Amino acid sequence: MSAITNHMPTAELQALDAAHHMHPFTTNDELAAKGARIITRAKGVYLTDSEGNQILDGMAGLWCVNIGYGRSEMAEVAARQMMELPYYNTFFMTTHVPAIALAQEVAKLAPEGLNHVFFAGSGSEANDTNIRMVRTYWAEKGKSAKTNIISRKNAYHGSSMGSGSLGGMSYMHAQGGMPIPGIHHINQPDWWAEGGDMTPEDFGLARARELEEKIAELGEDTVAAFIAEPIQGAGGVVVPPETYWPEIQRICDKYDILLIADEVICGFGRTGNWFGSQTVGIRPHIMTIAKGLSSGYQPIGGSIVCDEVAEVIGATEFNHGYTYSGHPVAAAVALENLRILQEENILDHVRDVGAPALKQGLNELADHPLVGGVSIMGMMASLPLTPHKASRAKFASDAGTVGYMCRERCFANNLVMRHVGDRMIISPPLIIDQPDIDVFMARARKALDETYAQVKAEGML
Ligand code: PMP
Repeated sequence: MSAITNHMPTAELQALDAAHHMHPFTTNDELAAKGARIITRAKGVYLTDSEGNQILDGMAGLWCVNIGYGRSEMAEVAARQMMELPYYNTFFMTTHVPAIALAQEVAKLAPEGLNHVFFAGSGSEANDTNIRMVRTYWAEKGKSAKTNIISRKNAYHGSSMGSGSLGGMSYMHAQGGMPIPGIHHINQPDWWAEGGDMTPEDFGLARARELEEKIAELGEDTVAAFIAEPIQGAGGVVVPPETYWPEIQRICDKYDILLIADEVICGFGRTGNWFGSQTVGIRPHIMTIAKGLSSGYQPIGGSIVCDEVAEVIGATEFNHGYTYSGHPVAAAVALENLRILQEENILDHVRDVGAPALKQGLNELADHPLVGGVSIMGMMASLPLTPHKASRAKFASDAGTVGYMCRERCFANNLVMRHVGDRMIISPPLIIDQPDIDVFMARARKALDETYAQVKAEGML
């Protein structure tokens, strides 16, 4: 058996990682030359790496560790569940208590009318479920021509063939034969990057009306669903203009199209409500969940399904499911996460403390010469970097060059901020408090100053 431990020298661990481990969304040869950063433990909002650095995690892992790291109750629940029933499936007319309890709790927290949960192991799997579920729904209703699904460019819905097709990332579609047939993309409501001289309100309406145009182009009777994140996360924390979502809702209602809200990032408190759909005021038929459902302590996702769709699907055999649908340990851990979120009033903390403090701090950072503005909703935010604030100009360098530089300066200052192109992304654990937000801002400003110096030195301004 392997005797690899946290106590081995960093270089040795890096060499072994490079020899055997293929990383997601990575040029592995480049990483092998550079050496991966090795995270050894974490507590609260801080990560520790193999060199002993204490790194403030401004991304909550991958937008998921909402209750923060190191909660022993979560480990205890997992251990107890493993002793009692480590695994059983939910196929073949069988169930178990963790799946029953979690489904009930999720239905209780979800908006009215969304009372049914189909479990998956991840957000990608749940979105694959959604594709098959909405098409099956319409087929069962005798409208089998309704198969097209409309999504948005620069959306992220996962990495499997189905969910990656729903996503609108062109660099993903360039590999492996995506999108699959029947998935269509309209433009995103990103006023900062694409709004030009339009007002945000006009731009929001124009982008929403692309949905109506796409429905007309495909044929009203062929469209099954529209899917979107209430606030795009991996696309750069794109908070749409206020005109956008009401118009989308109007169009979905008018043409009898199912609305799928991908709540994988927005769900479970990140925007200050249980679900982003509540924050932006929409009434989805299906919500995709993952990440914050378990705060990342166990892999679990799912689809929360409205009564009408569940009723139609329930009348037929839905030939779909995963070995780990409703996995008992993952379900028990997710349930404990929901208990912690509620009993510790973490959503109140987001609304009353975390989000206002984050907003104030980021607004102060917006005076930095590189920062073009602040896009924020609750505790998800982005800072677009620009060589010229007034015109919201892009850098002449390839998109992402300056963002990458800034991310590296953040790491060097013991801060995790991710970059999407030339936007810096912020999504800390929801439990972060004022002192650590102050640490975040101090480190972010230093990283921005160093990036600015480098950008100037390299003649990129
Ligand atoms: N939907 C959204 C909105 C996401 O942000 C993600 C992951 N970043 C996914 C789906 C896919 O989830 P997973 O990585 O768990 O498959």
